[in-house]
Amino acid sequence: MEDAGLNQEIVKLSITILITVSSLLILLVFALSAAYRKAIAKSSRESIEPKSDGAYKHYLTGLQNRESMIKALVSLFESGKKDKINVALLFIDLDDFNNINSSIGTKLGDALLQNVGSRIVEVANAFTRLVYQIGSDEFAVVLYDYAMDTDSITSMTKEIIGAVAQPVNIDGYDLQVSCCVGVCVYPECATDAEELLKHAGSARDNAKNIGYGSYSFYTKDMSKESVLRSLISADLRHALARNEFAVHYQPKVSISTGMVSGAEALLRWRHPSLGNITPATFIPVLEDLGLIHPVGKWVFHTACKDMSRVHKDGFDNLNIAVNVSPQQFNKGDIASIIAEAIWESGITPYKVELELTEALVMKDTEKSLLMLKVLQSMGVKIAVDDFGTGYSSMNHLTRFPISILKIDRSFIHDMHLTPVKKAIVSTIIRMAKDLEFEIVAEGVESIEELELLRDEGCDLIQGFYYSKALPIDEFIKFVHSRNMQGNRETNSQEKSA
Ligand code: C2E
Ligand code: CA
Ligand code: CA
Repeated sequence: MEDAGLNQEIVKLSITILITVSSLLILLVFALSAAYRKAIAKSSRESIEPKSDGAYKHYLTGLQNRESMIKALVSLFESGKKDKINVALLFIDLDDFNNINSSIGTKLGDALLQNVGSRIVEVANAFTRLVYQIGSDEFAVVLYDYAMDTDSITSMTKEIIGAVAQPVNIDGYDLQVSCCVGVCVYPECATDAEELLKHAGSARDNAKNIGYGSYSFYTKDMSKESVLRSLISADLRHALARNEFAVHYQPKVSISTGMVSGAEALLRWRHPSLGNITPATFIPVLEDLGLIHPVGKWVFHTACKDMSRVHKDGFDNLNIAVNVSPQQFNKGDIASIIAEAIWESGITPYKVELELTEALVMKDTEKSLLMLKVLQSMGVKIAVDDFGTGYSSMNHLTRFPISILKIDRSFIHDMHLTPVKKAIVSTIIRMAKDLEFEIVAEGVESIEELELLRDEGCDLIQGFYYSKALPIDEFIKFVHSRNMQGNRETNSQEKSA
């Protein structure tokens, strides 16, 4: 017996030694191959790196510009014909820099740009010296032959995003900016320099849609999307004047009474020849063109006016929620725009809710806290939209004047079939209850999801299960049918009690 035990111990020890030695070997092989790849890349870089003639330098950062980059790419591709070279272009675009620039002033803005430029150079230097400033707040990094697999390009991209996002103190001001990165690889996804840049730009647009601080690799579908975007941008400029926009209203239904308690205003655009275009496609273009300001203002006025009609129709307890883009919020005139719409429509401010995304609300700057407090003092309620997709801390949630949390629909979808989603939703609802927030579940499509949300104690339901967003006349009919019916149900329940 003792012998058997001893043998077992020896076998265990041998296995442990074997695993340790193999792990060390794997690490060694990994380190050697990385060093080898780096050495090869360096020698190949030195032999083909385009020589800078000092021309086309950006006055702020001293980095070469777009033209220099195109020249460099052309020369790389020519040498690549011999060496079968791979090239990746990282298109780096600072998030919301125009707004940052206008709020901190051009002097600080320039200093921030210089600082960001040198941080990008610092990270990129280990891999390449080809760093460019290709627009006022756009940079590019060209990688070639350095371990050109997706993993290493991704880790470099993440490193750049992380470096840019570091807070920095300039002239006593704490400044922070994030960036999105679009990546395109030659020869897989582009045939020449201009196309490489264009496709990296499309990937950047896609990253911008995902949100601040995101990255995206180019895929063929993005070309179609960016063609559609450039097609619609000219038409969007006239859409407001030509009355092509409409606001539809998606009901929010109380889970306990079954009655409509309010609506979310959702913008719709019917293009004269292309038909309905989804907000996911045209709202980012409105934001890029700065048109979100006049259009957003029109949405406020229309939504308040329409809801005051609903109130006059006898349903004066209904709330109206309007979405606010980061650009609208950061411009600084949002309070006066809302005040004007409220005043003009005669609606009570307590019935107005503003839906802001988690990333925007949680941007812990004193400025946004101040703005939220101004809005709160007007009587307007703040809702955190798409909750669960960002990075809220408890501290932020309690510090900001927030009244409503809207659980993102990705958690609601099939939550009855996915235990992790159910656990997340249940935790969010419990936390919201403790903090006395009203809780809305978005994107409820099935009775199973609804029943679970009822069990968890969710307050309001919004989703196709009840209704999609409706034109105002249809919305009023919906309210009539549900709230009258709800009243009858409540009355009969009360009577039988
Ligand atoms: P959001 O604020 O998260 O709005 C909810 C979106 O979910 C709407 O998409 C709505 O139609 C959709 N939805 C509602 N219930 C369901 C459901 O049961 N299942 C599914 N699959 N989807 C559901 P929509 O109308 O396409 O709007 C997309 C986004 O566009 C909105 O997301 C919002 O971020 C933005 N948006 C819409 N209108 C405006 C606006 O007036 N101003 C601003 N700044 N953004 C707007
Ligand atoms: Ca919303
Ligand atoms: Ca949402």
